Amino acid sequence: MRILLIEDDKELQRLLKKALSEADYVVDTAADGEEGHFLGDTEPYDAVVLDLGLPKMDGIQVLQKWRKAGRNMPVLILTARDSWSDKVAGIDAGADDYLAKPFYTEELLARLRALMRRAAGFASAEIEIGPLRIDTRTSRVSVNGNPVKLTSLEYRLLAYLGHHKGKVVSRTELVEHLYDQDFDRDSNTIEVFVGRLRKKLDVDLIQTVRGLGYCLDDPAVLSKPQP
Ligand code: CA
Repeated sequence: MRILLIEDDKELQRLLKKALSEADYVVDTAADGEEGHFLGDTEPYDAVVLDLGLPKMDGIQVLQKWRKAGRNMPVLILTARDSWSDKVAGIDAGADDYLAKPFYTEELLARLRALMRRAAGFASAEIEIGPLRIDTRTSRVSVNGNPVKLTSLEYRLLAYLGHHKGKVVSRTELVEHLYDQDFDRDSNTIEVFVGRLRKKLDVDLIQTVRGLGYCLDDPAVLSKPQP
């Protein structure tokens, strides 16, 4: 899952980027409203952390512009402590959740997980697909109760497919959500990672849909003939 972090406080941005990366998210950052708006307008993100007090364009304006343009990714706003009017303005502008500064990083991570699973239509922090379990809190994966050790990139790939269970995800979409904007992207490497993932999971969960991409679903569903 790929996250956009817009925060002009350098130290806070650094800390949050580190925490988000450690939680296996791909993170792009912006330190002002204009750049942040541009990134959110042109790149696909699974969630955005948006500070409201920003240089060049404030967070409320950024959010209003996105929503007006139909950009509907989940957005969590960061507000100043005790500023209830900021929260109201943010929610009215289209924010999905808010956190008042200062906050615990753990709470930010939990709220982001909740936003992303709600967007994907899951109620629980654990995604279950047939024998596969993906615990989005700990990035742990198991098959039939046996832990499977994955690299960070393999986990990101699986988590993205898991959040889009039963849907066909194209290679381009995967590349866009697994790497940050500076990465030298090559959609051929996705094939290699899917191959490794299949081998490690050792169950037939990831279907290749020729010419379209990949689909992760329950083997019982995948084996049914398509209408
Ligand atoms: Ca700020």
